Amino acid sequence: MSYQTVPFDQYIEAHRERFLAEFGQFIAQPSVAADGRGIPEMAALVAERLRAVGAEVTVFPTPGSPVVYAEIGPADAARTLLIYNHYDVQPEDPLDLWQTPPFEMVIRDGIIYGRGTSDDKGELLSRIQAVEAWLATQGDLPVRIKWVVEGEEETGSNHLETWADAHRDLLAADGILWEGGSYDEAGRPIFGLGGKGLAYFELRCQGPSHDLHSSVAPMVVNPAWRLVWALSTLKAPDDSIILDDYLQHVRPLTDEEWARIDAVPLEFDAMRERWGLEQWLNGMSDHEARRRYLGAPTITLCGFHSGYGGAGSKTVLPAAASAKLDFRLVDGLTVELARRLLREHLDRRGFADIEIIDLGGEEFAASPPGSLVERAAVAASEQTWGKTPVIFPWYAGSGPVYPLSAKQGIPVIFAGATWHPNARAHSPNENILLKDYFASMRFTAAFLAYFAALEA
Ligand SMILES: [Zn+2]
Repeated sequence: MSYQTVPFDQYIEAHRERFLAEFGQFIAQPSVAADGRGIPEMAALVAERLRAVGAEVTVFPTPGSPVVYAEIGPADAARTLLIYNHYDVQPEDPLDLWQTPPFEMVIRDGIIYGRGTSDDKGELLSRIQAVEAWLATQGDLPVRIKWVVEGEEETGSNHLETWADAHRDLLAADGILWEGGSYDEAGRPIFGLGGKGLAYFELRCQGPSHDLHSSVAPMVVNPAWRLVWALSTLKAPDDSIILDDYLQHVRPLTDEEWARIDAVPLEFDAMRERWGLEQWLNGMSDHEARRRYLGAPTITLCGFHSGYGGAGSKTVLPAAASAKLDFRLVDGLTVELARRLLREHLDRRGFADIEIIDLGGEEFAASPPGSLVERAAVAASEQTWGKTPVIFPWYAGSGPVYPLSAKQGIPVIFAGATWHPNARAHSPNENILLKDYFASMRFTAAFLAYFAALEA
């Protein structure tokens, strides 16, 4: 190895209390992208922490949350690494289900609780602290690091692409270390090379100006029924997508890609057990479920609201109905395509009155296997945990990978291990294991060393 692990490990141990106190500060600063609470203060805190390790930091305003951009390491380094993290968090509600206050770091039985611990302040700060420990024990960094820390990840990264397009020159790099590495129940690190895309829409159907007595139903349009009828044209009862002209755009996967998907170990029995399911949809096999999970596009009806849903009965003809739909996009599908085909499909069936509200999205993006960042992450995982990670060709979830990676032609790896199986990201009692917080520092250092040293 091209760095001294013993002094590095001693340094993080010697500075353990201060590192945790800084983590406490990060958690204590709310930064809720959904309502903007504490966002500028959190951006300033991140900038300050990056400056403290010697980075040149710029806080770029956007119409939403600022992007914190930092550079550190030798300007003439042979390689440049782009690191992506986010400083915003999900709203803390429901508050009554938290056992300790969400914006307070509480350490109990080796577990650190607080909003943002696993998603993503723990990973962000432990990586910065790893840079500090490297500089204090090894000399200069082995690579140039460029850091993009955004503050709208939890609300769809709506301004990141425009920012990235305007600053392409800043982003040039040999690879991207993304956030969001995790490990499964068996303790296997789970890394990934990208994610499905996502298009999110709200459909609204308007009826009379206000709710009416339902006796008028024979002569008054009911927006709830109209929306149900419209939605029922998007998917068949066997769950297949029947949106006009949509599936023909899906790029068929190669045998090699299917083989990579088939090789991903998923804990199917544990998943069904946890979710209270006897079997998968339509009784499909685990093999088929894995292929659909990673290989199939989706149209998910996430919510439907209209009329009365309270206790007992209320005879009412609702004034309006709305539905939320998310489309997970595989390669070949785009946000724009989903939007256009959905509009045309509804118009063709007499549903031109149904309004489609665009709630944002992200494009599919996945790096080809074998990149330098992937190999560096595998080697760093083996060094840190003694384990070879499972590599997802892409995750079934989504993130703003496309504007920083695929669009710029820079390969990416999702790697790290700050999400354990019970991390409760987005939920009450979000947490990170104390041991994982410090392991993240050792992983980051090993990653930097391998990224600098491996053959291209
Ligand atoms: Zn999140």
